[in-house]
Amino acid sequence: MTQPLHVAVIGSGPSGFYAADALLAAAEPKARVDLLERLPTPWGLVRSGVAPDHPKIKSVGGTFEQIAARGGLRWFGNVELGVDVTREQLLEAYDAVVYAVGTQTDRRLDVPGEELPGSVAATDVVGWYNGHPHFTGVHVPLRADRAVVVGNGNVALDVARMLVTDVADLCSTDTADHALAALADSAVREVVVLGRRGPAQATFTTLELRELGDLRDVDVVVRPAGVLDVPDAGLTPVVRRNLAALRTLAARRPSTEPRARRLVFSSWRSPVEIVGDGRVERVVVAVNKPADADGRVVARPTGDTEELATGLVVRAVGYQGVPVHGLPFDALAGRIPHEQGRVIGGDREYVVGWIKRGPTGVIGTNKKDARETVGRLLADLGQRGPLDPSPDRPARLEAWLRSRQPRLVTDLGWRAIDGHERAVGAEQGRPRVKLVRTDDLLAAASDVPAAPSDPTS
Ligand code: NAP
Repeated sequence: MTQPLHVAVIGSGPSGFYAADALLAAAEPKARVDLLERLPTPWGLVRSGVAPDHPKIKSVGGTFEQIAARGGLRWFGNVELGVDVTREQLLEAYDAVVYAVGTQTDRRLDVPGEELPGSVAATDVVGWYNGHPHFTGVHVPLRADRAVVVGNGNVALDVARMLVTDVADLCSTDTADHALAALADSAVREVVVLGRRGPAQATFTTLELRELGDLRDVDVVVRPAGVLDVPDAGLTPVVRRNLAALRTLAARRPSTEPRARRLVFSSWRSPVEIVGDGRVERVVVAVNKPADADGRVVARPTGDTEELATGLVVRAVGYQGVPVHGLPFDALAGRIPHEQGRVIGGDREYVVGWIKRGPTGVIGTNKKDARETVGRLLADLGQRGPLDPSPDRPARLEAWLRSRQPRLVTDLGWRAIDGHERAVGAEQGRPRVKLVRTDDLLAAASDVPAAPSDPTS
């Protein structure tokens, strides 16, 4: 009997799981999938990107569990491309390689002072409150009474909401314990969300704006006055709904609670310098006005500036892909160039998700995206048959992966981690309590004792 193709998918976030699902669903040629992940845990941004107070969005993890349970899929964690296995080795071992590596870094603001302690990328803050093991040591200073979040997208909104939410309301979520402790001690009373353009140009989604109305003792302020007085004509339905949501929030009576916090949307404002003596103390902000550039509304500086005292600046101005060694890379777009998902200039190599199309869309967007790539892959490889038709190929591939990374985590290991986190969570009325150190995750996966905690991390 002809053996199936054996495909490696690199990265087990939403785009990796949906690519695996599409590969397994193919009738002809049949495919098996090894889903390789550098962390000891799967689900990518669903575990470490989606805000902890959005459990409904996180519940898509259940769909990934169902995909993982399909015959033909193996998940292997703690194996890193470029460290444990190389691109060339993967190409030798597998019939095709699908890169689902996401966009792993942040876009820069390119303003003086960006590197000062207290100026933090949203990628770091999001990883920190979500217990991503690479970000547990991130310092998020919460001693000043104002924090500034730069950007008008959903990531900015997530971070701002996490900073103004009463910590009592986060205690029932899977927010990492170190972040809960820091937030419980936070002095932040006001979070200013800076948009370089106006609310009609923001990329917020309406649901996320409306839910700000559910936050206890949080007043929403929209500045400057009149910024919401945009005529509806010519606006898309989403923008119209967003403006309506903001008007409703801004029209509410201010809270009488003395400890109330404020979330301020400050529009037509661009940070031009972050200032401080050894740490962030204030942000200089240029005042913009709208201008037309070939039919697009852009921000033009008026020449006026303002200053905001703050101890924390979070830069939420978009994510950025990083190159995969040996593959072409479009540095301007931060993506791997491709045709229908097939890497241009690659060898049996494909891309899905944010490294393919850039950091846009929601989790479900990856389904259609993965179908396109997998359709291309199967059409390309359909006639070739597997590189290695021997029936013991899967066992040999696993043995090879183990030889590269002796502490490989299998699906069984992940289930042990998951079971442990959920059991501790159940005792505290939370969905899970995350293990946030790689050693602790590996120990839970394999009974290997963890090295003593580093008190400085
Ligand atoms: P985004 O939606 O692209 O927003 C980036 C923001 O940064 C824009 O407001 C952009 O303004 C601004 N910006 C870029 N460069 C700037 C600069 N130099 N100075 C000031 N502002 C600058 O990206 P994101 O918020 O990172 O979100 C990424 C994706 O994840 C999106 O598709 C988002 O919807 C999704 N996401 C969804 C959820 C959810 O569904 N709950 C949660 C989080 C993220 P301009 O428009 O002027 O360029």
